Amino acid sequence: MQSQDLVKLAEEFGSPLYVYDAEKIKSQYDRLSSAFSKVPRLRINYAVKALSNIAILQLVKSMGSNLDTVSIQEVKLGLYAGFKPDQIIYTPNGVSFEEIEEAARLGVQINIDNLSVLEHFGTKHPTVPVCIRINPHVMAGGNSNISVGHIDSKFGISIHQMPHILRIVENTKMHINGIHMHTGSDILDIEVFLYAAEILFEAANNFKELDFLDFGSGFKVPYNKADVETNIEELGKKLTKRFLAFEASYGRELTLAFEPGKFLVSEAGYFLAKVNVVKQTTSTVFAGIDSGFNHLIRPMFYGSQHYIENISNPKGKERFYTVVGYICETDTFANNRRIAEIKEGDLLCFRNAGAYCYSMSSNYNSRYKPAEVLWKDGKGILIRARETFEDLIKNQILI
Ligand SMILES: *Cc1c(COP(=O)(O)O)cnc(C)c1O
Repeated sequence: MQSQDLVKLAEEFGSPLYVYDAEKIKSQYDRLSSAFSKVPRLRINYAVKALSNIAILQLVKSMGSNLDTVSIQEVKLGLYAGFKPDQIIYTPNGVSFEEIEEAARLGVQINIDNLSVLEHFGTKHPTVPVCIRINPHVMAGGNSNISVGHIDSKFGISIHQMPHILRIVENTKMHINGIHMHTGSDILDIEVFLYAAEILFEAANNFKELDFLDFGSGFKVPYNKADVETNIEELGKKLTKRFLAFEASYGRELTLAFEPGKFLVSEAGYFLAKVNVVKQTTSTVFAGIDSGFNHLIRPMFYGSQHYIENISNPKGKERFYTVVGYICETDTFANNRRIAEIKEGDLLCFRNAGAYCYSMSSNYNSRYKPAEVLWKDGKGILIRARETFEDLIKNQILI
């Protein structure tokens, strides 16, 4: 989509504003499916937590996607958006046993990542098939905030605890129908991923009635022009070969599953914000926008570098700016960034604003959450209204 389209959408729907390009989500989906087109049973489970708007869920459903959920609320959003229970996998961490039972009652695929829960669940519900989340202890890139495969991770059951898993399965007579791993966001190195996959294959050989192997996600997308991204096509070639060989030796039809979040929606998202003030100080020029980490926390939380463009003055002379928010706390989006000359009232566009942006937003400083718009077939469709004062006070009670 073009900058002029974004400018028009901000005029129509106001700022700050999230915009998602449906076509980009579709092209990413198609890219992943074609990279694995030689796998007879491929299943893509979109990770709801990346961007959970129900219209986005409907959109990915229309492409043929299933869902990966991490809370009972995400399960309910998926069902509300029209997914069938068997199109949803539920991969919680540290939730109550009652919540897992509720998800099982709703008929979604349970994925368990804890020995005590496995034993408890298997004892109480031996007939409900369960997937097991393994921690292969492989860290496929990323920084310490987003790598979940390492030895001290709270995610998954350690591969070294396989004998204990098998004892629980034997004692409870429960049914294990899937094996899962998710080695964390941002896979840089395909070889590391394939190494982890080998560990999953080895783990899978311990179970006789598997229906699927779920390789999680962590596909890296570029945030800047110089950024590397996961070579999905190469991964597709190499993993397909290994998967098909494994399936043949396993002797039973298996589905290969992935759970992409960022890969599908990150680059499809644009965050638009207006510049309220330009402030010269002794050391820098601040551009202060009508937003803050209440709407987009990734730069402050993970140190993420979102590319920023002045779409009101795209051809302007480039100067250095520190882009900050209006929150009464340090909320720097970008430090010393080269951006086309900014005037007060200009519209800035943040790229890669599809994943973990709106879904991590809050009402801090009692600000309203922005509106969300889906760009589809050359038109902007409002998929979430901007909040109002009524939303802020809805659950509060005067005494
Ligand atoms: C967050 C998450 C994903 C998606 O990760 P991305 O890096 O956004 O692709 C997949 N699976 C599980 C279990 C997750 O928690």
